[in-house]
Amino acid sequence: MATDDPTARSIGIAPEAGDPPAPLDLRWIDPHQHTQSLTWNDRERFDLSGCRATVMIAAGYYWAPYRPVAARDVRFLWDDALRRARAFDHRHHYAQRVAVGVHTWANVEDADELLAVMPDYLADERVVAVGETGLEASHHTEAWPLAEQREVVREQFRLAATADLPVLVHTPGSSKGGLNPRDAHAYEEGDRNFTDPLFGDGSAGTKREAVEEDLTLAAEAGLPDKRVVIDHADGSVVDRVLGETDCWLSFSVGASWLRGIDAQDVAVAVEEYGPDRVMVDSDLIGAMRTDPFVIPRTAVDLLRLGLSRDEVEQVVYENPKAVFDLDV
Ligand SMILES: [Zn+2]
Repeated sequence: MATDDPTARSIGIAPEAGDPPAPLDLRWIDPHQHTQSLTWNDRERFDLSGCRATVMIAAGYYWAPYRPVAARDVRFLWDDALRRARAFDHRHHYAQRVAVGVHTWANVEDADELLAVMPDYLADERVVAVGETGLEASHHTEAWPLAEQREVVREQFRLAATADLPVLVHTPGSSKGGLNPRDAHAYEEGDRNFTDPLFGDGSAGTKREAVEEDLTLAAEAGLPDKRVVIDHADGSVVDRVLGETDCWLSFSVGASWLRGIDAQDVAVAVEEYGPDRVMVDSDLIGAMRTDPFVIPRTAVDLLRLGLSRDEVEQVVYENPKAVFDLDV
């Protein structure tokens, strides 16, 4: 205890050495969330905590009425997202932007119909990315053959290259495992009705294989690395993406109880490769237990883990601002 402590009796807390943290003045952008499934209260929390922009994934296929999903179901979801984006944008203090894509997590029939009209959607001023899309190993209800997925994903990469937009590349799920029964019930869509995996071994290998394939498809489509965001990152793909490509890497930190990814994983990547191509996103979705403050909370955790203010600001604000060319 410091000798000049004026309290009459010690309560055993010694003052720590060093300066106390400076006040927070956080700015943040969330480049991947299913905003249309959240509530006004959630979006107000974004307003209250320094949010400058979020990117809403238009194809929340979970709410498509039928499986397999028809092209018109997905197009309805695109239209719904764009309509909501206008309303959110005019009522909240952050910019609501949209990503449009054919997600691969459920078989979509006649996806060509969507690809044919996608350029018109990509020209909309609120659309800042293609996605999420990318090869998936297992599907809800009905498998989508790999050859067909490759066509649909490659074509979306090509459309993005033509429109000069980035792609949010979905990669197959990863979990550090060991979900307890309480957590397993915190996801309404749940892990029910998934088909057997088409490739990979169901763990980190599946994600690595998918990333390899997606990188190949991007190259075939002429999509430059700087327009590729490998999303839902975990430690199994950090070296490949940050060490051997010029692509961006985004960690989905919004459901660490499910994915097992949090600020610690981000800090490890930044320590190894620097903050230049690292981002975080929430992947917030109203069908599971979520934390609308997860991006600012992750920023604070990164500071506690020793990243500098500049590094944290780059990860949660400057990088997504640059990738999605956001005027915020
Ligand atoms: Zn995803």
